[in-house]
Amino acid sequence: MRTCVGCRERSAKSDLLRIVAEPPNAAGASGTLTPDPRGRMPGRGAHLHPDPECLALAERRRAFGRALRADGPLDATAVQAWIEAHQAEHAPANPERADLSDERSMSQHR
Ligand SMILES: [Zn+2]
Repeated sequence: MRTCVGCRERSAKSDLLRIVAEPPNAAGASGTLTPDPRGRMPGRGAHLHPDPECLALAERRRAFGRALRADGPLDATAVQAWIEAHQAEHAPANPERADLSDERSMSQHR
């Protein structure tokens, strides 16, 4: 059993998507979150339900930074794309989809 970093519910490892962080590059750019569906990538991993709501929760709570011990911002674009692709496969047409996209809080830089 693993805990989802978004909703914090425990699930079987096979129900969760493992996510690893590519470290920030030398130029100091933000790190990148990378989906690791096969669980093969080295290093520390965070587990997340492949669900946009869990991703939004995890981002809002900055849970990835904590789980992956990463300083600074982490770009979740690749994870979001993976989840969207995955959802499209599994849920054909979902009329009651939560309207989260607009209120997604991007990290606001001064
Ligand atoms: Zn979850």
